[in-house]
Amino acid sequence: MSTPLSVDIPTAMTISAQGGIDGHSRRYEKVLGDMSGVYRDEAAWQAAVTERGDSELVYWVDDQRYQEGPGALIVGTSTLLPGCYGDEFALTRGHLHAIADRAELYHCLSGHGVMLLETVDGQSAAIELTPGKAVNVPGHWIHRSVNVGDEPFVTLFCYAADAGQNYDIIANAGGMKNLVVVDGDGWALTPNPDHTGYSA
Ligand code: ZN
Repeated sequence: MSTPLSVDIPTAMTISAQGGIDGHSRRYEKVLGDMSGVYRDEAAWQAAVTERGDSELVYWVDDQRYQEGPGALIVGTSTLLPGCYGDEFALTRGHLHAIADRAELYHCLSGHGVMLLETVDGQSAAIELTPGKAVNVPGHWIHRSVNVGDEPFVTLFCYAADAGQNYDIIANAGGMKNLVVVDGDGWALTPNPDHTGYSA
């Protein structure tokens, strides 16, 4: 978790539809090698690492955080490159907020994606996002972005600065309950046979 940026007076920021914030922002990057154990088809992921290298960028986040505490916001963009690993579309690791009741807005700026949403007690939803569409992810919902298109999937997000991220909840459950897989020219949800259920 990065520390807040030092800013005396708020200024306008320019948010690119291709991702990125012109102004006070920070970037963190995920590379292919960081995605070990995330895709169900480990062999397909390993083949991609062998072919493309483990340091190839797969997604990145630019965010702006001026303050800390329960009243502050983190605003940023997420840029997820397209691809497939086996029949699974490219995705982010996904998380539940460490303070689980914290909600989050995602607004699609470009590309074509799905926000995959699940609760610990077994509810699920998959929200298709194209430019102009948004989803208000309620607190207590595990969430992950999936790129089901062939160009970068870019979202603007906004959430409480004290929310934090719990990534282990997905890893400890054998992955999310549903997979987003290739289905003809489109996508479909299919149950993940490895999913063992979430433990809160
Ligand atoms: Zn979140």
